[in-house]
Amino acid sequence: MKTLKIAIQKSGRLNEKSVEILKNCGLSFENYKSSLISSVTNFPLEILFLRDDDIPEYVQDGIADLGIVGENIIQETNAQVSYLQKLGFGKCSLKIAVPVDSNIAQISDLNGKAIATSYPNILGEYLFKNKISAQIRNISGSVEIGPGLGLSDAILDIVSTGGTLKSNGLKPFVEVMQSEAVLIGNKNIETNSNVMELLQRIQSVLRAKNTKYVVLNIQRKNLEKIIGLLPGVKSPTIVPLFESEWVAVHSVIEEQDFWEKINALKAAGAEGIVVMPVEKIIA
Ligand code: ATP
Ligand code: ZN
Repeated sequence: MKTLKIAIQKSGRLNEKSVEILKNCGLSFENYKSSLISSVTNFPLEILFLRDDDIPEYVQDGIADLGIVGENIIQETNAQVSYLQKLGFGKCSLKIAVPVDSNIAQISDLNGKAIATSYPNILGEYLFKNKISAQIRNISGSVEIGPGLGLSDAILDIVSTGGTLKSNGLKPFVEVMQSEAVLIGNKNIETNSNVMELLQRIQSVLRAKNTKYVVLNIQRKNLEKIIGLLPGVKSPTIVPLFESEWVAVHSVIEEQDFWEKINALKAAGAEGIVVMPVEKIIA
C-alpha cells in the first residue's frame, strides 16, 4: 500500500498540538523545523509541514491524503474534503467587532458599512444569509486596526480573549462561527486501511485524554452505593483486599464530571482514592 501523506501546520498555533497528537499515536518521526517533509519510521506515513492556509486545498487535490487544520480555514477556502475527526484543540471564534462607541447595534445596521477581514468568503456568506449588503475589505493581517485607520466600520476576525480588540478600541458584536482543529481527508481515501488504522489511533488518544483512571478502597457494604457512579469502560473491576470486608474498585471517569464524582464517591465512603492519567483507550 502506498505511503500516506498528512499535512500539518509548519509553525504557528496548531503545530505543537498536531505533532503531539501524532506522537501520542505511537508515530516516530523527526520534527525538524527546517524541513518540509518528515518520514514516519514505524508507519507508512509522511508528514508535510505547510502553511495552514494551503492545507485544505492540498488535501482536496490529493497532494496530501490527510490534514490537520482549523475549520475556519476549511470554510474560507471552501475546499471539498472529508471531515474525519474533530481534535479538540485550536478552539477559537470568528466574530464581527465594532468600535466601542459605534452606533451599530443590530445586524441590519451593517447595511452599507465597510467590514475589514482576512476571511472574505466566510464574511460574504454570512452577509448573504442575513441579507446584508456591506462592503468587504479584504486585508491579510492586522485587521483590528481597520476601524482606527478609517478603513472600515467593523471587522471580522478571530477573537479569543478579546484583549486585542480592547486595545484597539473595539468590542465583539456578533459571532459568525466557532472553529477547532480537525482531521480532514481527501474524498477518495476513506476506505484505505492505513487511514482507518490512523483514525482509530487518534480516536483512542482523544478518548483517553478526556478520561482518568481511578482506584479506590471501599467497604463491601457500601459497594452498591458507588457502582452507579463508576461505569468503567464496560463495568468497574472489583478486587478483594486482605481485610475481607474491604474491596478495591478500579474504573475510569470522564474528565468533565470528575470533581462531582470524586465528591460523591467520598460521601459514599470511598477511601484512598488514586487518580491516574490514561494514555489510550482502544475501542
Ligand atoms: P501560517 O503561517 O501557517 O499561515 P497563521 O499565522 O495563519 O499561520 P496561526 O496564528 O498560527 O495562523 O493560527 C492557526 C490557526 O489556529 C487558526 O487558523 C485558527 O484555526 C487557530 N486558532 C486558535 N486560536 C486562535 C487565536 N487566538 N488566534 C488565531 N488563531 C487561532
Ligand atoms: Zn495562515
